[in-house]
Amino acid sequence: MSSRYVADTNPKKINLGVGAYRDNNGKPWVLPVVKKASRKVEESDRDHEYLSITGLATFTDAAQKLVFGKDSLPIKEKRVISVQTLSGTGANHLAALFMSRFYQFTKDKEIYISNPTWANHNAIISNVGLNPVSYPYYNPQTIGLDFEGFVKSIESMPEKSVILLHSCAHNPTGVDPTPEQWETLAGLFLKKGHYAFFDSAYQGFATGDLDRDSSSVRLFASKRIPMLVCQSFAKNAGLYNERVGALHVIAASEDEAQRIKSQLSVLQRSEISNPPAYGAHVVSLILTDPELFSEWKRDIKTMSSRIIEMRDQLYNKLQELKTPAPAGRSDWGHIKSQIGMFSFTGLNKAQCDSLVNDYSIYLTGELSLHRLFELKRSDTPSFVTANGRISMAGLNTNNLQRFAESVDEVVR
Ligand code: PMP
Repeated sequence: MSSRYVADTNPKKINLGVGAYRDNNGKPWVLPVVKKASRKVEESDRDHEYLSITGLATFTDAAQKLVFGKDSLPIKEKRVISVQTLSGTGANHLAALFMSRFYQFTKDKEIYISNPTWANHNAIISNVGLNPVSYPYYNPQTIGLDFEGFVKSIESMPEKSVILLHSCAHNPTGVDPTPEQWETLAGLFLKKGHYAFFDSAYQGFATGDLDRDSSSVRLFASKRIPMLVCQSFAKNAGLYNERVGALHVIAASEDEAQRIKSQLSVLQRSEISNPPAYGAHVVSLILTDPELFSEWKRDIKTMSSRIIEMRDQLYNKLQELKTPAPAGRSDWGHIKSQIGMFSFTGLNKAQCDSLVNDYSIYLTGELSLHRLFELKRSDTPSFVTANGRISMAGLNTNNLQRFAESVDEVVR
């Protein structure tokens, strides 16, 4: 899809397919705090020796506090094991590998994932010999959460099932449970002894508030639900290619924590020996220096506020144009209530195709990675496009009006 965008000579083309933050000029944004911290890292007399297998301890300790909160009970009880990983993808992989080796699965090595989910979840889980099985999550009729289906599914899963949850800013739908719904989910996890496999790729990026975006994780941890968290600094620190992330596993006791730490170390050693240092030093500085930390929070607000502003402006523009809402909706309110980088607009395939072909407006298209496992070597992998998903980060004050007007035309 992006090569088609690049080849398109229409000067008014719009790229809403990027999975990374863009500023109001459509350009990648290096966070000012990251520039500052990078300079400090470069000026320090850092050597290039290997990090330890589990990574830079100042980074993993601070990253742990960021996700669970500094007063978190499992941290105080020394029950959290943290390992530096190759960003969120690496954390998901190490977590899945760890589960595949050490978790006592009730049924056929199944890990339950939302329908839909980030396409890579399927691939990562299948890759380590586990079975990804979908649970209902998104309701296309309401363009919202299918909470009833979600709850029923959790209730009917075998006890001690492993369920993957997006801690905030669900990718690709932008639809999250409310705080009350998280409470209900936590109750069900406790009742059934389920294991929560949290993916936290957007902390702070969703609402602009680091604590609020981690409230689901903290709720589950406070209730002693068995869990792990895969953490990425790609989006909230804009460190995409530096691959900064961590896997945090909560153990039942300090003793078990030590055993899990050795198991994770053995796995990590055989996979990557030890993680890269540069980005971890940058994030470690940001998380441990109070001034840099405050500046980071301001930078996060800059990104999240711009995206929220684009949601508001798009909604207002569609209202103003009296654009007919998608089937099943009385208005475009879902654009505002969805959260994070992505939005499921509710546009159907024909409308999406028309946006691409007639207006040079490129929507997100994801390589269906799980399908790669079913392909023969000679097959060419296809793209799944046209699910109506847009990256809000691709919208800005220069292209929003054209996008809204084009949507208005394709839905009429
Ligand atoms: N999980 C989810 C839900 C994501 O959206 C992403 C990024 N697209 C990741 C994990 C991993 O990203 P990264 O490896 O760049 O940290």
